[in-house]
Amino acid sequence: MIGGEKRGVMVQVDKRRVRERMVRDQLKSRGITDKAVLRAMSTVPRHLFVQEALQSQAYEDNPLPIGHAQTISQPYIVALMSQYLQAEEGMTVLEIGTGSGYQAAILAEMGLQVYSVERLRELHVETRQRLGKLKYFRIRLKLDDGTLGWPENAPYDRIMVTAGGPKVPEPLIDQLADPGMLIMPVGGSKRRQELVIVEKSEGQVSRRREGGVAFVDLVGEHGW
Ligand code: SAH
Repeated sequence: MIGGEKRGVMVQVDKRRVRERMVRDQLKSRGITDKAVLRAMSTVPRHLFVQEALQSQAYEDNPLPIGHAQTISQPYIVALMSQYLQAEEGMTVLEIGTGSGYQAAILAEMGLQVYSVERLRELHVETRQRLGKLKYFRIRLKLDDGTLGWPENAPYDRIMVTAGGPKVPEPLIDQLADPGMLIMPVGGSKRRQELVIVEKSEGQVSRRREGGVAFVDLVGEHGW
């Protein structure tokens, strides 16, 4: 018989190995090189951000449902968006679409001060509890329409939207620091978007498009 505590330690070691395999096979092999991103992805216990019945699938190469018709992104997409941010330790980042809190935890592990907004009360409450249990006390959460941003703490060095909308919400561009960078899935049709990167520098705002993605809808005043 193995005692509960010892079994707990064994599960942790086992999950760590699974995460290291995920980092090698899904991230490094596809060109994720940012050391802070890779370290965060091998540290955050992704299986604790999904429902219990799905825990054994948490490290697979696909998105998973998190309840309330929402999803946690595929590990590669989380890493890719985090890498695009080109963030440095100590920066502030605003995330729109807290969901399970997984992306927020990755950003916190990268050394960023994270503010995250979620519009669904149940998810907001569940995720607040989850992040508390996991001791991510420095992540600040808000229940609101994130297309309006979180003006009280602006400007943000980085903004990441993890839901897809028809356009980049104007309030988010206003709340972006100069210099600053925003990343968001934008698309005219629901569930099919392109990653759009907005950079603010010396008062100028520029945009470029990266590859295609499929996110759940950004619902709100400046969303769907
Ligand atoms: N980043 C999350 C996954 C995001 S799923 C994670 O790591 O788990 C997209 C989330 O965006 C959903 O939880 C959805 O409820 C939320 N969302 C959609 N529109 C929103 C809005 N206007 N403001 C804040 N959150 C929104």
